[in-house]
Amino acid sequence: MNFRIGLGFDAHEFEKGKTLKLGGVSIDFPEGLKGHSDGDALLHSITDAILGAIGEQDIGEVFPDNDPRWKDADSVIFLKEALKRMESKGYRIVNIDCVIITERPKIAPYKEAIKKNLSELLQVPIQNISLKGKRREGLCKENGLACFCTVLLSHEG
Ligand code: MG
Repeated sequence: MNFRIGLGFDAHEFEKGKTLKLGGVSIDFPEGLKGHSDGDALLHSITDAILGAIGEQDIGEVFPDNDPRWKDADSVIFLKEALKRMESKGYRIVNIDCVIITERPKIAPYKEAIKKNLSELLQVPIQNISLKGKRREGLCKENGLACFCTVLLSHEG
């Protein structure tokens, strides 16, 4: 099989007194995302998309939230583990497509910085990384945000 596709989803509530991180980038916003780790829902959705594409367990199974090692952990650790597993199976990322669903903060001012950081973390050209900020248009509560990510992998061999 030469190609694999993966889908990731994650949602976190806002929490006061925490730094908001999305895609490994700190965002100027009064609230962060609640969670055992740093709460970076975008990195969590990308990690889950990669793990899904290679047929591994999901992020919550690989990094249980009752494990003290992951308390306030930088979510880059989770992403790097997923990348390591992907590489060990001989795959590389072709492209990723992500959506952040939230009314606030506005994603547009951070889009390029997040894409640049993802490009470095994933070792994927920036033109193969898509990031969209979408508003929920009245659906669901506004006390958090959600992210979707799809990833396409190709086998090196
Ligand atoms: Mg999460």
